[in-house]
Amino acid sequence: MDIISVTSTILFKNSGYAIADLHLHGRYAISVSKNTTPMTLIERAKQKGIQVLGTGDCLYKPWYDDFKPFFDSKEVKIVPTTEVSLHFKRHEKNYAFHFILVFSSFEVIPIIANKLRYWGNVVKIARPELYLEPKDFLDCVREIDEACAFIPAHVFTPYFGVLGRRGFTDISKLGVPISSIETGISADPAMCKSVKTLDKAAIVSFSDAHSSETLGRESTVVKTDIDICKAICKPVMTIECYPELGKYHRSGHRKCNFVLEDFSDRQTCPVCGKPLTLGVADRLLALEQKKSTVPLFVRTIPLAQILTVASGSKAITKKSKALYAQAIQDIGPELYILICATEFELARVLPDLAVKIILDARENKVVIKPGFDGLFGQLCLS
Ligand SMILES: [Zn+2]
Ligand SMILES: [Zn+2]
Repeated sequence: MDIISVTSTILFKNSGYAIADLHLHGRYAISVSKNTTPMTLIERAKQKGIQVLGTGDCLYKPWYDDFKPFFDSKEVKIVPTTEVSLHFKRHEKNYAFHFILVFSSFEVIPIIANKLRYWGNVVKIARPELYLEPKDFLDCVREIDEACAFIPAHVFTPYFGVLGRRGFTDISKLGVPISSIETGISADPAMCKSVKTLDKAAIVSFSDAHSSETLGRESTVVKTDIDICKAICKPVMTIECYPELGKYHRSGHRKCNFVLEDFSDRQTCPVCGKPLTLGVADRLLALEQKKSTVPLFVRTIPLAQILTVASGSKAITKKSKALYAQAIQDIGPELYILICATEFELARVLPDLAVKIILDARENKVVIKPGFDGLFGQLCLS
């Protein structure tokens, strides 16, 4: 089967597969919009075509309590997840990495949260900051939830990525077995499978949404006949954003508007001389190269961005929002629109230019000005 029929079957035929987004943040987390509530997230998940939704921030009690009435939601399956920041010191060097946790039940959450209090801050912040070695952390969590999945988040990003510029060049240095890693918005499975250290790792992808609008911009297809903690370690395929759209795709210096366009070993900004923020595509080159089999994945561009660019405006307008809602209502969930809908279906609702961009994006024919140093990449009209 090709990607179109696979995705279409998953979205509409209850096929034993589901599309999952397990890494996101709620309204209490830093730089998250205040209307990011369980209700708005669930509504968005339905619009996007997400069938398994992580709670995000589940160790944070106010958010856990907000989500409680929705734990048994029939519309979208809810799974307890969080991101944690682990800080530890080895040989006088400080490390800080982000990890995604997927828990096997809601009941274990208060017990784990209580146990982790000893190691840092879980009470006052939505994404816990904990001060211990990954191995000690996992021992502590798995004593209560043996099945819990532990996934390095946005693995190459300059800040907090295990393989980022302040991290390791070999994932085994973490000292715990890793079965899957998250690509992050700025990387895709093909990039991950170009480095030796990830040749055995399964690849997952999630939105890391800080608002309900960005939910599902990346997601992972999983099997539904096994427990989600196991399923996420054996994913079926991922649905990616074009990695150039990510805000750390290339090296650059935002203040001077300098982005590295070739793959030279330039480390400093030619305008001001300060060090460049190392992009993911450039960071990869510092790791041992070895091409291994790339798992099935598809690249997309969020529909809201397509409609904005097609309308000629810089930011999303009321008109584009209305058109987005119309498209979902008349054609189907966003992921169906982006990946599967026929030209005929699209053209009934959307303007010609938007249809063209959607079809071009399926064939890798779009032009994107790559993101760098915290600035998102931009879709350009070719
Ligand atoms: Zn993170
Ligand atoms: Zn500069």
